[in-house]
Amino acid sequence: MKLARFNDGKIGVIVDDRIIDVSDLVGDDLPDSPAVAMNRLIAAFPRLRAQLQAASARPGIALAGVRLLTPIPAASKVIAYPINYHDHGIEMGRESRANNLGFFLKPPSSLCGASDAIVLPAIEGRRIDHECELAIIIGKRGRDIAREDWQHYVFGYSCLMDIVVRGKEERVARKAYDSFCPVGPWIVTADELGDPTALRGRLWVNDELRQDANTRDLVLDIPGMIEVASHIMTLEPGDIIAAGTPAGVGPIRPGDKVRIEFERIGSMCMEVVQGSGGKASIFAPATA
Ligand code: MN
Repeated sequence: MKLARFNDGKIGVIVDDRIIDVSDLVGDDLPDSPAVAMNRLIAAFPRLRAQLQAASARPGIALAGVRLLTPIPAASKVIAYPINYHDHGIEMGRESRANNLGFFLKPPSSLCGASDAIVLPAIEGRRIDHECELAIIIGKRGRDIAREDWQHYVFGYSCLMDIVVRGKEERVARKAYDSFCPVGPWIVTADELGDPTALRGRLWVNDELRQDANTRDLVLDIPGMIEVASHIMTLEPGDIIAAGTPAGVGPIRPGDKVRIEFERIGSMCMEVVQGSGGKASIFAPATA
């Protein structure tokens, strides 16, 4: 099943080129509160699955005519593994890998979706890069999850871009700007996707292929990422794990179009725009 959030926060099931509104089965978000409807759907999926499947026969509307939002805006955390492909470690000149480094967090406020733009902060002289990553969506609360139990805790998968200002400041500060974590265009459930251990993911900037990788080359694999994170934090339904980027990271500039695609998930193309805000003092050019 493919699940999306669209327009003003409705929840939809995607069937071919249509989207079917199933918000009534999940319940609306409350105004002025975190948008937790998708978290609720994920937590209740075993109970809701048959109803959602039956609803797939309803008449839908054209997918092309809706605005696709980030699927889980109220994820309690985005857990991101750095340097999880050897070729990216080599291009960055780093010895350590994710299996020793662990992870960092991106704030939920950095999430955006397929119909949004990536907004660059107005800071000078800094390279801002794309990273092409698989998103693993947690389906069930868990702590100290054993490696062999990983499948019980995965709800689905999506595409994720980890956008970053290069530099020596704290990694989280460089990766936390609003819109620096596009996720989408939808979630594909684990049962529909099948085996995630050899998934090809690619990223283009203006039709130039920049990244082309396969999850078989992950240093710390998906069971390992779930094991490590859950031995430190309780994982919640709707939490997102960013699996790390392969080689080929590179700069994005205003006017660029960045497209990410994972096989058996889908693709999304996003525009890069120049914002006027974001002039954090830590990124101010050094004065002589
Ligand atoms: Mn990354």
